[in-house]
Amino acid sequence: MARIARRNKVQLEPSDVASRLVSWFATSARDLPWRRTLDPYAVWVSEAMLQQTQVRTVIPYWTRWMQRLPTVQELANAHLDEVLKLWEGLGYYRRARHLHSAARRVIAVQGGHLPVHSDEWLALPGIGRYTAGAIASIAFNEPAPILDGNVARVLSRLMAMAGSPKDRSTSAVLWSQAALIVKAAEALPPPAPLSHAPLVRLSGPCSAVNQSLMELGALVCTPTNPSCPACPLRDQCRAHAMGRSGDFPTVSTRPATTRRTMAAVLWHRSGRWLVRQRPRDAVNGGLWEFPGLECGPGDDPKSVLARWLGVEPGQLALAGTIRHAITRHRISQHFFRLEGPVSRPATPADAEWKTVHDLDALAWTAAHRRALALARS
Ligand code: SF4
Repeated sequence: MARIARRNKVQLEPSDVASRLVSWFATSARDLPWRRTLDPYAVWVSEAMLQQTQVRTVIPYWTRWMQRLPTVQELANAHLDEVLKLWEGLGYYRRARHLHSAARRVIAVQGGHLPVHSDEWLALPGIGRYTAGAIASIAFNEPAPILDGNVARVLSRLMAMAGSPKDRSTSAVLWSQAALIVKAAEALPPPAPLSHAPLVRLSGPCSAVNQSLMELGALVCTPTNPSCPACPLRDQCRAHAMGRSGDFPTVSTRPATTRRTMAAVLWHRSGRWLVRQRPRDAVNGGLWEFPGLECGPGDDPKSVLARWLGVEPGQLALAGTIRHAITRHRISQHFFRLEGPVSRPATPADAEWKTVHDLDALAWTAAHRRALALARS
């Protein structure tokens, strides 16, 4: 990969790239709600939500979160159930649990003072090099580099760098390039207020450069069909010059998908439903679901569930099947109503009976949230 870059004598001039990025951002930045503040807590929440999630999805979540938990103190004081409820539907719930535990650490260890430098942010739970660099540069204008999927794509194309950004050696080169560019931004003058988006606030040119790289990857240098004629970096872009923008970066082979089958019970008794909370250390930990279990290959889900509950298979009626995916897992989740008198109730030990009113207040996994509609139909 580096061989291709060398063969084409890639000589990116970081100060030129930084200057063009700042100029482009001044006319093209989106007016996003978290860009109207330099509050590091607000920036932190936005960066946590934006991982693996699109901007338009995040906007209502971020807005609701900041209304309910506007400070790190209020986040630390909140119960985890409420935090998960605010996050419900965003997925990757570990991010919410990390935000909560990091907020508690900030209050307990740092007296409520949020970090300033990227090194200090890195010490908090759930904060990696990208997030630390993003918060420190956006909120405090620190020349800290960032490298997420969007930025890696832009830099790989600028350098015509083959290899997957997930490979350690390729990633190291891209991080170095990102560092050179944001370091070069330090010498630029403070950005003027954006005339097309006067409410957007910038802490300085390092913030503008990093946000511009993110924005360019999201809006212009897209995974397919990049809009090279509209790109401020097209004169520096080696992949564009070679007519091979689509060849970079190398896409790593996806792991094979795995099919899994689950069975769960919709059990209603005396105005209450049987539900349980997932263990805190499990996938989707802390979220609620209807009790059930995973079936083995070739198992009949109804028979497996009946055996687990200690009822006859004839007492279970299929209410519906919800198919969904989590990373490489393709999951078929079968939901069965338990009907008729149960002679030997074998209520799962970790389950609880909740009223319909209670159910609405809980944070659910996505599939079981959809199953609520089945339960009520
Ligand atoms: S010129 Fe095209 S490929 Fe190169 S950085 Fe710009 S949009 Fe991406």
